[in-house]
Parts: sequence; C-alpha cells; structure tokens
Amino acid sequence: MNKKFRRIFKRALLTLLIIIAALVTIILFPQLLFANKMKYKNFKLCSNDKISNDIKIVLENAMDLVQKSELYDSGYKYNIILCHNSFYNKIDDRLLGIGPAARARLHNVIVKVRIDPKSNLAFPAFRKECEVNLTYLLAHEMIHCLQANNYGIMKFNPFRHPELWKLEG
Ligand SMILES: [Zn+2]
Repeated sequence: MNKKFRRIFKRALLTLLIIIAALVTIILFPQLLFANKMKYKNFKLCSNDKISNDIKIVLENAMDLVQKSELYDSGYKYNIILCHNSFYNKIDDRLLGIGPAARARLHNVIVKVRIDPKSNLAFPAFRKECEVNLTYLLAHEMIHCLQANNYGIMKFNPFRHPELWKLEG
C-alpha cells in the first residue's frame, strides 16, 4: 500500500468507528434525542409528542401485572421511550428490522407505534392497522427488561435466549 492510500484508509476507518460509536450510543441511550420528558415512580418517559398524564394509570396497571412475576424488582427503573414518528424509531427500524410494536433494551422499553393512553391502546401497523392493549404491551416488555436483569444480558438477548415459550411467556 502506498502512503496516500494508507492515509485515506485510516481516515475512512476512523470515520466508520465514530459513526458506529454514535449509533450504539443513540441505540442504548435514546433519551438524549427526545424533547419531552416525564418522571413517574420507577419510570422515566420520553417522547417528541406531549406526554399525557393518562399514561400514569397505564403504568400503574402494567406495574401491578409485573409485580406478580418472580422476576419483579421494586428498585428497578424503566425508561419508557415513546418513539413513534421519531428519528430514533427510523434508526431502530434500519438497524434491527421493522416488525415489533415494542422492544426491550437494557432499561429501555421502546414503544415504536402510536399509542392512546386514555383508551389504553397501542396501534401496531405491521400488516394492517390494529389495536392492542397498551398495559399488556408495556408489562410484556418490562418483563423482558427483568429477564435480562435477572439472568444476565448474555443469556437473554435476541441472539441467545432460552426456548421461545420461556422468553416470550
Ligand atoms: Zn416479547
């Protein structure tokens, strides 16, 4: 390799590493990207839309469900990322694929679809627009957070996990 080529190669590699680092930071710490935030009990919420107080009762009900699990941890903190129609959601789609209405990642419960907390609904539009119970959706993802927290992220992640009935309950 001649000198000039090596220099270009080094610069390209450095740029690539910076882009990867930025994407990993955004994926793991999405809160930075959102305009609106709310704290409620064990939850920190963020969204680009105004966060309605109606979400509080939904969170209470989701927590009631999660409390019944043997994995429940009263000190565990959740970040609820309401990212429908956000830049973050687009990055998430690109990197991890379009499909689920929500994901769990570290302490983050990522709700990718439109929600209506007042009527306790989320609106996945994977094949066609439909309605799901928002409380169940949140509780399901909160349990995924607790699975990784209890059993270790190395054993519970999208690539390595116990059989699906146990992962998905
Ligand atoms: Zn799941």
